[in-house]
Amino acid sequence: MSQPVTPSAWGILPSEWLSICQELQQPVFRAKQIVTGLYQDFAESWENVTTLPAELRKTLGGRFPLNPLTPVENSASEDGVRKLLLACADGERVETVIIPSKGRTTQCISTQIGCALGCAFCASGSQGLLRDLNAGEIVAEVMAVCHVLRADATPETTSPRPGAKPALPRPGNIVVMGMGEPFANYDNVMRALRILNHQQGLNIGARHITISTCGLVPGIRRLAEEGLQFELSVSLHAPDDELRNRIMPVNRRWPIKELLETCREYTAKTGRLVTFEYTLIKNFNDRPEHAARLIRLLRQMSCKVNLIPLSPIAGFDGRRPNHNDCLAFLDLLLKAKINTTMRRSRGKDVNAACGQLRLRSQIHSVNNREKKYAEIFTARST
Ligand code: SAH
Repeated sequence: MSQPVTPSAWGILPSEWLSICQELQQPVFRAKQIVTGLYQDFAESWENVTTLPAELRKTLGGRFPLNPLTPVENSASEDGVRKLLLACADGERVETVIIPSKGRTTQCISTQIGCALGCAFCASGSQGLLRDLNAGEIVAEVMAVCHVLRADATPETTSPRPGAKPALPRPGNIVVMGMGEPFANYDNVMRALRILNHQQGLNIGARHITISTCGLVPGIRRLAEEGLQFELSVSLHAPDDELRNRIMPVNRRWPIKELLETCREYTAKTGRLVTFEYTLIKNFNDRPEHAARLIRLLRQMSCKVNLIPLSPIAGFDGRRPNHNDCLAFLDLLLKAKINTTMRRSRGKDVNAACGQLRLRSQIHSVNNREKKYAEIFTARST
């Protein structure tokens, strides 16, 4: 695994700048200037924060580098979905996807470089885990997109009221559905999401931030204790343990019964519904009998289901069901009064499924999946 990257200023909570300013013997108002420079004006370097004295900018640059993630590839698909491949300070690459829709831009962010969980159909895990992203890098993914949106912005999109200081465009929704398993990097992910959600940070509403997990039960339990309003999605993908074991090794550690029990507790504790993601794979989990089993499993639960037709990837021989079969599956769930949606597949021509772009540009071939598994399953299963 590569060396940890020095934490950057992007990993500091807006509220923490106060004590940093005190420690640097700076007046309290400097904290506000810093936070405004970072999250209102989208500074790309400390030199850009011209409200601060030059000497302080230099001190901050030495202590809290404003490491950006640098776009190395920016591919737009025909339907407007854009995929960015970003380089970290150590040269590792992270992918993020921008999904424009009416009124709001959704950004899909990554939390790790690679993934240790090894879901059979997911490109992110096919080469194991290289390293966790730190909180600053996760926030920097969003800042990189803010910079792209700023470059694209027209006066109409930035000036809602005449005379008002233009609000720079930012993503309105964040989905933690890129590379990596967020609960395998829990502390960095939660810190980053708090910064994105913070009123003086990017101020992205908690209900517009969705965390997707492959089903790390301790992570779900921990999130239930946080008292936050983030949306939780759980990747289920199969209606029984026999099938789930075959595509998601995590199921051997936390099988469906325990997973669903934890989701029930989560809802009881937080009052928030869980969304189950179900990737439809032709003749594997997309038949009416699979729908019937899924209905039996979820009937007693207050939950939502999101169907995702498979994006075929190299190395997995599953196929995408045809559209009518997907609709038939959707129909059965709806008839059983399960609140179900089907994800429109977008960005296919830019390899927008998890991990696909990085995989294509991959130069490393590291596989420490087995080792990382052992770490996750033993250290974090309490
Ligand atoms: N580790 C998290 C986030 C991963 S990506 C998780 O497992 O939930 C977000 C969703 O996309 C997950 O439900 C994941 O299983 C799904 N996914 C990954 N690869 C896919 C593919 N090739 N086709 C369809 N869905 C895929």
